[in-house]
Amino acid sequence: MENCVFCKIVTGEIPSAKVYEDGEMLVFKDIEPKASVHLLCVPKEHFALLAELTPARTALVGRMLNVIASHAAAWGLSDGYRLVVNQGESAGQTVHHLHIHVLGGEKLGW
Ligand SMILES: [Zn+2]
Repeated sequence: MENCVFCKIVTGEIPSAKVYEDGEMLVFKDIEPKASVHLLCVPKEHFALLAELTPARTALVGRMLNVIASHAAAWGLSDGYRLVVNQGESAGQTVHHLHIHVLGGEKLGW
């Protein structure tokens, strides 16, 4: 989608520190980390909200969770991690392209 920063990261128009990529998703380091490890997992297809899930997107989000779980140790998250999915501006969603925050690498506060 035009003017979407995550779509531009997906296409490579904006560089990112990728830690995982396949045909459907990309995982990269947040440029403003809120924890020792702060990754963003995004689908390559642009959509903003879980409310827009189709059966195919639902399956993709499941694969995203599986990729996170299976790579957590390699990403320095073997002591645990937190996933955050902000939905809407009031919740703090600043980029309207679905993304899962992956936070850890330290003892997290609330
Ligand atoms: Zn997008």
